[in-house]
Amino acid sequence: MIDFLNLKDINARYAKDLKEACSRVIDSGWYVLGNEVSEFEKEFSNYCQTKYCLGVANGLDALILIIRAYIELGVFKKGDEIIVPSNTYIASILAISENGLTPVLVEPDIDTFNLDPKGIEVAITPKTKAILTVHLYGQVTGMDEINSIAKKYDLKVIEDCAQAHGALYTNKKSEVKKVGCLGDAAGFSFYPGKNLGALGDAGAITTSDTELANTIAALRNYGSHEKYMNLYKGVNSRLDEIQAAMLRVKLRYLDREIVARKAVADAYLKGIYNPLIKLPMVEQPDSHVWHLFVITTNEREKLSKYLTDNKIQSLIHYPIPPHKQEAYKELNNYNFPISEKIHEQVISIPISSAITNEQINRVIETLNNFK
Ligand SMILES: *Cc1c(COP(=O)(O)O)cnc(C)c1O
Repeated sequence: MIDFLNLKDINARYAKDLKEACSRVIDSGWYVLGNEVSEFEKEFSNYCQTKYCLGVANGLDALILIIRAYIELGVFKKGDEIIVPSNTYIASILAISENGLTPVLVEPDIDTFNLDPKGIEVAITPKTKAILTVHLYGQVTGMDEINSIAKKYDLKVIEDCAQAHGALYTNKKSEVKKVGCLGDAAGFSFYPGKNLGALGDAGAITTSDTELANTIAALRNYGSHEKYMNLYKGVNSRLDEIQAAMLRVKLRYLDREIVARKAVADAYLKGIYNPLIKLPMVEQPDSHVWHLFVITTNEREKLSKYLTDNKIQSLIHYPIPPHKQEAYKELNNYNFPISEKIHEQVISIPISSAITNEQINRVIETLNNFK
């Protein structure tokens, strides 16, 4: 069987460093929001080219807390609208509705799977306060267009970077920047299967906005900067020392992980030529960190079974669009034909630093023999 993603093999490579880091935390006697968290926050903000990073419990909380902080700061209020892609993982949308704001779904571009700037302006109303863009599958959204629309309508730009740690964007001034610093604030997930994965749940927010960072620092810890002094009705969404220590080890190897994933993607892009399969499109050379390698086909069910029969694990990201979910009954009657088509056609094939050349070749050959 060729695994979709073998986390055990990936983490085995760093096992010595991970175990050492783990012992360091055990011996420290301090387990929540301590030195490991603040060092990781420094290292990750440095990596993302932002002033601040705030560790939180998971990626969904990262997004929720950005919006919540804007509410506390009086920038957003309940009932306001946030534009979000119609084909994202449900977490991006949950972060908006959880705060009592309204998600306004906008269709993606059929080729990049990312928010299509053309759809944004028509969706803007007087209640629109932000664009929450998702760098889906690991590819950066066209941020120049999004930022210029945001500027025109005075909107905040929030990046969902859960799938795109380390992805690079070349802006119109030819500056190369990392995701996480391309808008006003960004949410990251370090769920174990992400490109930068902890050994449990973890997440972070990056921003260069001092006021926002201070507000989130309090909100994640019961709304408190100082013990037993509560400024806000906050939540408990703190990052553990153990997870921060694991992430500090893995952050050192993130660029290597990305290079390895790119090599797999390049092999697939060069090797797969079956006319029944459409390959993913890459907008800029380093804009994709290949969290997922997603192909499309009109014959998904058949291809999925064929891959299983040939002992290749594949997954679907995602089978049901958010607006067709039970959870969002209020959206069930909307039509998002591009998003629906994507959800019917996508299939993700194995990609990671743990896959061998022999396995890559077998995936390519198997896909080319599909009829
Ligand atoms: C994984 C993911 C999240 C949520 O992260 P968790 O850490 O699982 O809460 C949010 N958005 C996207 C696009 C994701 O892929």
